[in-house]
Amino acid sequence: MHISNAAALLARSVDRPMRFMEVCGTHTVSIFRNGVRSLLPTEISLISGPGCPVCVTSQGEINAAVELARRPGTIVATYGDMLRVPGGSSSLAAERAAGRDVRVVTSAAEALHIAGENPDRETVFLAVGFETTSPATAAVVREAAEKGTSNFSVLCLHKVVPPALQLLASDKELQIDGFLLPGHVSTIIGEAPYRFLSEEYGIACAIAGFEAEDILFGVLELVRQIRTDKPAVRSLYRRAVRPDGNTRALKLLDQVFTASDASWRGLGVIPASGYALREPFRIFDAPGKLGLTVTEAPVPDGCRCGDVLSGLILPPECPLFGTACTPVNPVGPCMVSSEGSCAAHYKYQGSEIL
Ligand code: SF4
Repeated sequence: MHISNAAALLARSVDRPMRFMEVCGTHTVSIFRNGVRSLLPTEISLISGPGCPVCVTSQGEINAAVELARRPGTIVATYGDMLRVPGGSSSLAAERAAGRDVRVVTSAAEALHIAGENPDRETVFLAVGFETTSPATAAVVREAAEKGTSNFSVLCLHKVVPPALQLLASDKELQIDGFLLPGHVSTIIGEAPYRFLSEEYGIACAIAGFEAEDILFGVLELVRQIRTDKPAVRSLYRRAVRPDGNTRALKLLDQVFTASDASWRGLGVIPASGYALREPFRIFDAPGKLGLTVTEAPVPDGCRCGDVLSGLILPPECPLFGTACTPVNPVGPCMVSSEGSCAAHYKYQGSEIL
């Protein structure tokens, strides 16, 4: 079906207000960039969810990363977006400017390579991301174990998506009618881990890719499920997502990690929504190895990132949006990450496609 036909069909199909959450930050950016909202009937509200891994990293976790960077003899290896996220008193970018050894990497493997080149120092990899990136961390930890690398460790800040969706689905205030589920994460976990959303909460679910057509057809599928009163998990991203996901990656995750509670910015501690290294890989756990404690910490005054991430407000409703908080001077991580909804709103505000 052509995209214009899909938009016309949507316009004919929607007969009541519907609230859909796009879970993934990549969806959020694509929706803005492609003007998807302008193709939707006014009855459909698209709200952004907690699908930006940098954005959901808690303030306490950022503070712990800064503390590590300040330790003599330590190299902190991190993805670029983490650098500018403000912690309580500093950021990794500020620490780097002050002479600490903070390095930007594009993969977990690169962090292990840095450890190999610096045998007299400890390299700590800040492992951030959802199920999409956690298998790469698991693979590198296993490789470090096989090599007997003793100067490498991981601050494991990975998050697991379905438990966060359960929290949002059970929030009566949010009243989500449908989830546009993340294509990337689903390539790893498949369809089954989402089924509780339709079976227990009666919420429509569509796994979608990232082109404008993918998103529009995903929305169309959500509307179809609601109109027929048959909520289900349906994948429209079959070119990348198998029903049972990536079984090799899942096996690797299970070999290296065990489920643990995790602190999400704005959502609080969610049971079994993170990963901890299991034996015999616990020797690579940075907090345990280096005597680091990760504690909860208050977010900056006035920052509403938590409400943005849980879909309670739109970014412009934050009093700091565009004034105290801009991409050049971010107050919260949602304005830092290229996939953060505040950054996306800021970039496209005033545009006719907003
Ligand atoms: Fe946080 Fe800035 Fe977004 Fe407000 S505008 S929610 S302070 S990132």
